[in-house]
Amino acid sequence: MAFDSLSEKLQGVFKNLRSKGRLSEADVKAALKEVKMALLEADVNFKVVKQFTNTVTERAIGSDVMNGLNPGQMVIKIVNEELVNLMGSEVTDITYGTGGAITTIMMVGLQGAGKTTTTAKLAGKVKQRGKKPLLVACDIYRPAAIEQLQVNGKKQDVEVFSLGQEKPLKIAKEAMDYAKKNGFDVVIFDTAGRLHIDEDMMNELESIKSNIDILNTILVVDAMTGQDAVNVSQTFDEKIGIDGVIITKLDGDTRGGAALSIKAVTGKPILYAGMGEKLSDLEQFHPDRMASRILGMGDVLSLIEKAEAEIDKDAAIALSKKVKKASFDFNDYLTSMAQMKKLGGLTSILGMMPGINSSQMAQLENAVDDKKLAHIEAIILSMTPAERENPKLLNPSRKHRIAAGAGLDIAEVNRFIKQFEQSKKMMKQMPNMMGKGRRGMRFP
Ligand code: GDP
Repeated sequence: MAFDSLSEKLQGVFKNLRSKGRLSEADVKAALKEVKMALLEADVNFKVVKQFTNTVTERAIGSDVMNGLNPGQMVIKIVNEELVNLMGSEVTDITYGTGGAITTIMMVGLQGAGKTTTTAKLAGKVKQRGKKPLLVACDIYRPAAIEQLQVNGKKQDVEVFSLGQEKPLKIAKEAMDYAKKNGFDVVIFDTAGRLHIDEDMMNELESIKSNIDILNTILVVDAMTGQDAVNVSQTFDEKIGIDGVIITKLDGDTRGGAALSIKAVTGKPILYAGMGEKLSDLEQFHPDRMASRILGMGDVLSLIEKAEAEIDKDAAIALSKKVKKASFDFNDYLTSMAQMKKLGGLTSILGMMPGINSSQMAQLENAVDDKKLAHIEAIILSMTPAERENPKLLNPSRKHRIAAGAGLDIAEVNRFIKQFEQSKKMMKQMPNMMGKGRRGMRFP
């Protein structure tokens, strides 16, 4: 996940600060110097870093903070607030047309940034709002871009308008007529990307923009390209004018600096963040939640939203009842595994929890091996329906049959069944554990 290293460094600095009762000006200055280094190493634009640390220093060295009861905590609070400010404070979405006007969205960006994928992802978000989007294939240069849009459009159950290799402006104009005639209220244009910014590309985008009333020009940038993403944003904004940015591949091993710099450098907000290759992996960009993630305070709200969008509510309620009664069987285990997969796997869930830092995450990732989960699935799928409902039936000969069916060692089958029984025992004890000794969330 992006920001891992930044997050770890900042948490180290803050741990130090918190351990001191009173802070001298020199303590704060030394801590902020480390914050500055951490931000620079995370590839945040140097001008942005300078401005950021100046503001935080000014606020932190003010008398209210230094004489307060818990100056360390106050400094962290200020860093949090300024991080939020850096990323734009407010959540910004697509501007939707009013008075029956069609909402037009032109997606622009360099090749490989993730534009075509994001176009289809965005159509999904638009649909969730009850709108009827039309996707338009104007990227006629990249081989397979049209087909890719069609395949993804189909997955999202969204119609794709294409005229093959016709001129993009002609395609765009005809798409608008088609949309008007067929009751589409949002039209999203996937335009051509090049490997580098060039005049032809800009002219083409310009001509679409000046002939069609484009309400949103959205630039797609790849977080992995770091400061290049920031420069690309600046250039596109100067040449054609953009309204907002979608930053992709924030799930990857990026240092994250682009996400922290784009708003500050260009003044244009980040609307959404791409968090994976699946079409559901697009999250609204919440500056406050992103700051919480960076500071290791977790992002429980995004997790809840994701769960609400992805998980079958009735199945979840039924499952939680079974957990309470400890009548959980192997079928339930399979259901819960499927739901967890929808949320991006256990490690992705843990990454959004407060208080889990990146080194703990790394340990968990080792423990929660995806291969192990696949083995568990194979074991359960090799059981008969009766065995899945009643683990007590599992005598040695049945276990041998299951191991052979799953292509695994009998020891692994035994281990899993034992773990399953232990978890059930724990579930039985859970109602007593709840409410006792539960710690509140700490900051951070
Ligand atoms: P385009 O040339 O800008 O249209 O790029 P594509 O949409 O073809 O995307 C390029 C590659 O990036 C594809 O392999 C996508 O699956 C991948 N991709 C796009 N968005 C994301 C993202 O948010 N996370 C990850 N991990 N991969 C992404």
